[in-house]
Amino acid sequence: MVTVCHDLCGERPKLASIVYGPVPSWRLGRSLGIDLLPGRGKTCCFDCVYCQLGVTTNPTVERAEFVKLDDLARELAAVKGVPADYATFSGTGEPTLASNLGEAIELARAILGLPVAVLTNSALMPREDVRRELSKADVVVAKLDAPDERLFRLINRPVFDVSLRDIVDGIRHFRSQWSGRLALQMMFLRGNRGAARDMARVAKELAPDEVQVNTPLRPCAVAPLSAEEIVAIRGSFAGLNVHTAYEAMRPAVTPLDVSETLRRRPSEAPPDC
Ligand code: SF4
Repeated sequence: MVTVCHDLCGERPKLASIVYGPVPSWRLGRSLGIDLLPGRGKTCCFDCVYCQLGVTTNPTVERAEFVKLDDLARELAAVKGVPADYATFSGTGEPTLASNLGEAIELARAILGLPVAVLTNSALMPREDVRRELSKADVVVAKLDAPDERLFRLINRPVFDVSLRDIVDGIRHFRSQWSGRLALQMMFLRGNRGAARDMARVAKELAPDEVQVNTPLRPCAVAPLSAEEIVAIRGSFAGLNVHTAYEAMRPAVTPLDVSETLRRRPSEAPPDC
């Protein structure tokens, strides 16, 4: 059951579990999160070593309907008018596993009147249906953390049989057919910091609108690289539009429901909590 927003009386709206935030995003400003896999635990086709959500409790590569569009519509209507820059599909797992992602994107745009972003781990980019649904978004942030199969398996630990080559080909295909804003997000750790030049070579081939050079600044099982190390890595990406996690500014935002937000962003400490 969703409790509606009390715009006029000034009470803070109580959200159910699909919509959360807004959260401050160094890439998207004030980001109103939409989680199409909101069951407890994490539903993903990767088990990244740096994942802030912990281990993948629901490993799967099967697309399914985890959330009904009627329920999503009700929650979106309840938060219409909340100040945000983007409606962002992310949350407790990989959003492209939701088989109604394309319809959900259209619904979010229609109800909220906001541009829509999707954060994806890129694992299902080889699938034509997934690329078609992602193309409905205004911004797609696609994860790419490795330049070769060995590092891919070491860092992203896919839970199914997929090759990095197929994923990169899928992103290339997507880029060639879609004119929206494509960002590559590259997470740098001890294990792949020496591969920055190779990562930059792959990035140049894919011609993204921007590259987000990240390192796990939120608490997780892996230590982040230092600001100096990230600056050095940035140098390998000359000629590309690069943003790094250390340089980025985050807007001040207050989540509508702190507990639902912390479930997706455990280290997010909103100013009033
Ligand atoms: S793809 Fe995202 S949600 Fe899945 S394990 Fe990696 S970091 Fe976590």
